Amino acid sequence: MNHTAFSLVWLRNDLRVYDNQALFEACQSGLPVVALFIATPDSWQAHSMAPIKQDFIRRRVQQLGLELAALNIPLLAIEGSDYAAVPELMQQLIEAGAEALYGHNEYELRERLRDRKSSDIFARSGKACFWFDRKAVMPPGTILSKTGGIYQIFTPFKKTWLARLREVGIGCFPKPKALAETKLQLPELPLMKKGDGTSLAYAVDELLVLEQMRQFCRDKVAHYQAERDFPALQGTSSLSAYLAIGVVSAQQCISRLQLEAANDWDREKSGAAVWLSELVWRDFYHHILMAFPQLIKHKAFQKDTDGIVWPNNTKLFQAWCDGQTGYPIVDAAMRQLNQTGWMHNRLRMIVASFLVKDLHIDWRWGEQYFMSKLIDGDFAANNGGWQWAASTGTDAAPYFRIFNPVTQSERFDPDGVFIKRMLPELADVAKKQIHWPHPLPLWSDYVKPIVDHGKARLKTLELFHTVKKPQ
Ligand code: FAD
Repeated sequence: MNHTAFSLVWLRNDLRVYDNQALFEACQSGLPVVALFIATPDSWQAHSMAPIKQDFIRRRVQQLGLELAALNIPLLAIEGSDYAAVPELMQQLIEAGAEALYGHNEYELRERLRDRKSSDIFARSGKACFWFDRKAVMPPGTILSKTGGIYQIFTPFKKTWLARLREVGIGCFPKPKALAETKLQLPELPLMKKGDGTSLAYAVDELLVLEQMRQFCRDKVAHYQAERDFPALQGTSSLSAYLAIGVVSAQQCISRLQLEAANDWDREKSGAAVWLSELVWRDFYHHILMAFPQLIKHKAFQKDTDGIVWPNNTKLFQAWCDGQTGYPIVDAAMRQLNQTGWMHNRLRMIVASFLVKDLHIDWRWGEQYFMSKLIDGDFAANNGGWQWAASTGTDAAPYFRIFNPVTQSERFDPDGVFIKRMLPELADVAKKQIHWPHPLPLWSDYVKPIVDHGKARLKTLELFHTVKKPQ
């Protein structure tokens, strides 16, 4: 049978039509374009991907199908099982007329292996593959020290990163123009299942998401530095879920930031510059992940800390997961995570520190729990954040600097507004007691503290001293 040749775009964590280089280049190929998305629930499960994130992806892919249809690009949204299903699928698509494969590089090891296999299949049939690097703003391996080394500390990385940005600027790809309508004979494949709707609080329409990003850059970014650490405020962009699956790209964020905050984005300590810094952290962790593949196996970056024998008390771990530790800021944060699939950055630092340095539980347990709940779960950022908090990572918090959860609470939720929002059992507690309501009033059914912070702190120092010289 004669098939019409087409270019195949394989969409993964780049679920957008604007600023999508792979899609854009495929549309320039002169051939009809077919987009492909493969849901792989078994692989998602193996990565502990949160059900809310899985639903979000499914909803977004459905919507993307409509956005692509308007460009006369059919989207094959397929239900697979895991990555093992990919090679056969690629073979079928080559037989159906796929002339070339277009996609964006992923940085995790299993994904790289999967893509290499797909490239081999295309190469064996004499077809081309075009891989583009857009997940990070500055692709891993491009920001190096003067001696060509990988930066392991954020500040010099950021300095070089910013210098590169000033030098090369930022560019975004336009939405492709609609192609001519073509009848294609595509193989019959199992269609992707719909989601369960658990992520409905998140918009999936690309234009709405772009508008949210623009509004933040226009109206809120100037206050970012002042407000970003206070979980009771809407001081951050709330874009992480969209960045994680690529409904919006970091390049689009920066390009818009430069437009809306033209005089500020490169002015140290301005809201715009501090927000840009967060996007640089995102790149930093991608660079680190590519350069140190042992991280994907959940090894500590600071190897000596893998020698610590964590007590790992399962009851304490469960209390932390459930938001039942007796430390209001920790419990409020964990309930935010459990109820919404998202947690404020300051709180992520507080609960991560608490799990490791107050409950003496291996950071990997927390890392996995976060992945199983977060709508924005991203291996590089999550692993980086956990290893930072646990003092095992690159440029991590020094092990002897241990967050006091009560002081953190007093500083960053001074009136207890966030705590009261998440913990109804403390609604009637006076402002002065909200950070430490113990001993509890008779009427309260809030939990008693499960550890003593002072004693726990000393035990943490002991644990670290088994592998490090006391400081
Ligand atoms: P904003 O403050 O508006 O920042 C803009 C964007 O910059 C974010 O959307 C995110 O893409 C990026 N960003 C911000 N801070 C960081 C950071 N420290 N490291 C890397 N990128 C950053 N972020 C994730 O996207 N996925 C995760 O799985 C994740 N796990 C984390 C685990 C721990 C223990 C810690 C301490 C941090 C983690 N972060 C993670 C980083 C950060 O908490 C979230 O990106 C942020 O809270 C998302 O909210 P926002 O979109 O309003 O961020």
